[in-house]
Amino acid sequence: MSERDATVSPRPAHGDSFRVRAAALLRADGERATEARLDVLDVLDDAGAHLNVAGIHRRVETRRPGTNLSTVYRTVDRLLELGLVHGLQAGVETAYGLSLADHHHVTCDGCGRTVSVTGADVAELLERLGELTGTRVRALDAHGLCAACRDSVRPRDA
Ligand SMILES: [Zn+2]
Ligand SMILES: [Zn+2]
Repeated sequence: MSERDATVSPRPAHGDSFRVRAAALLRADGERATEARLDVLDVLDDAGAHLNVAGIHRRVETRRPGTNLSTVYRTVDRLLELGLVHGLQAGVETAYGLSLADHHHVTCDGCGRTVSVTGADVAELLERLGELTGTRVRALDAHGLCAACRDSVRPRDA
């Protein structure tokens, strides 16, 4: 964050105030706070989850009928470049999440489902990882097999 962001509240806000905050972040980067960009950021904030482009488009379209899928693609690409959203590989698809909300990922390699985790326990874990590795750990991207996938797994190489 640059000094120009000093007036932006670090606390996640919702509704109109989120749009105002998102617009301020875009402008702090010298970017235009277009409706399309604010719509995508708003939708991801509302969903509180990672969505693929089709999912983002579906939600944007209920607010602004007639929005083009290609517009959403372009907008997401730009927001990725700006670091305001991040991509998560989920199988062949990429799901996108808001980078403004501090969270970490636990992804199932079987079904691709991602759970976002936050909280004091995670903060403590990151601190511990930092001590162990001498790295200031900013984000965690853990992988494994969820309960449902563990149940369906059969040993392949006997
Ligand atoms: Zn995420
Ligand atoms: Zn799974």
